[in-house]
Amino acid sequence: MRPVDYHTHTPLCGHASGTPEEYIRAAVDRSFAEIGFSDHAPLPESMREGITMNPEDAEKYISVIEAERDHFRDTIPVKLGFEIDYPLQPSFDRRFLADPRFDYLIGSCHYIDGWGFDHPREAAEFEKRDIDAVYADYYRIMYDLVRSGMFNIVGHFDLVKKFGHRAKGAFRTEIARLAAECARRDIAVEINTAGLRKPVSEIYPSDYIIEILFEHNTPVTLGSDAHEPGEIGYAFDAAIEKLRKAGYTKISGFSKRRRYDILL
Ligand SMILES: [Zn+2]
Ligand SMILES: [Zn+2]
Repeated sequence: MRPVDYHTHTPLCGHASGTPEEYIRAAVDRSFAEIGFSDHAPLPESMREGITMNPEDAEKYISVIEAERDHFRDTIPVKLGFEIDYPLQPSFDRRFLADPRFDYLIGSCHYIDGWGFDHPREAAEFEKRDIDAVYADYYRIMYDLVRSGMFNIVGHFDLVKKFGHRAKGAFRTEIARLAAECARRDIAVEINTAGLRKPVSEIYPSDYIIEILFEHNTPVTLGSDAHEPGEIGYAFDAAIEKLRKAGYTKISGFSKRRRYDILL
C-alpha cells in the first residue's frame, strides 16, 4: 500500500490532461491509500491563460471532485484541495481560505514580484539576476507564506531550483527557520517528485533540506504534481526511501483542514 498523492491537477488549469476519474483509477491501480486533487486556484485574467482555472470554474471544480468522492466512496478516499499562489493576488476570492469543503490548501510560490520564474518562457531572466538574491527573495516569500497561516501544505519547497540554477549559499538559516515555523504551526512540507521531470532532475526539496526538516520535527506529505493520470505516484518509491533514510516513519494526511499521521 502506498500512502497519499496530494498534488494533482485537472484540465481546468489549461495545461493538464485526463479526467479526475482517470487520476483516481490510476491511484487505485497503484494501491494508494488516498488521492487528493489540488488544481490551480484562479489567478487574475492577465496572468492565468494556460496556467490556472477561471474563477467561473472554481465551483465546477469543487462539485466535480465532490461527485467523484461520492462515486469512489467504497474504493478510495478522494480529498479536495487547492493549490494557491502566494502572495495572494488582489482578485483572489478569500472565501476559499475558510471554505469548509476543502480538505487542505497548498500554498505555492511561482512568482517573485510578478516574475513567473518557474515558467519556461520566463526562465531566461535567471541569467540577468544575481542567483543568491533570487533565492533570498524566494525564501523570504516562503517564510511569509508559512506565517500567513492560510495553508496546510507548503508546495514544492525549493521550486526556485527548477531549471538547475543553484545558489552559491545553502540558505541553511532560512531553511531551518522555515522548518521550525512549519513544525510550530503543524504545516506539512510536500515532498514533490515533479522536479525529477524538470531540468534540475531532482525531487523538491533537496536531500539536505529533508534532513533539516526532520531535525525540526516538521511534518511532510507526498505529491507527484501529476498533470496526467500516468504521473500519479511518479517516483514515489524513491521519495519514500529518502524520507525513511532521513528518519521519517510517518507522513501527513488531511481531512477538512486537520492534519493526521499515516505510517510510512
Ligand atoms: Zn505549483
Ligand atoms: Zn501543481
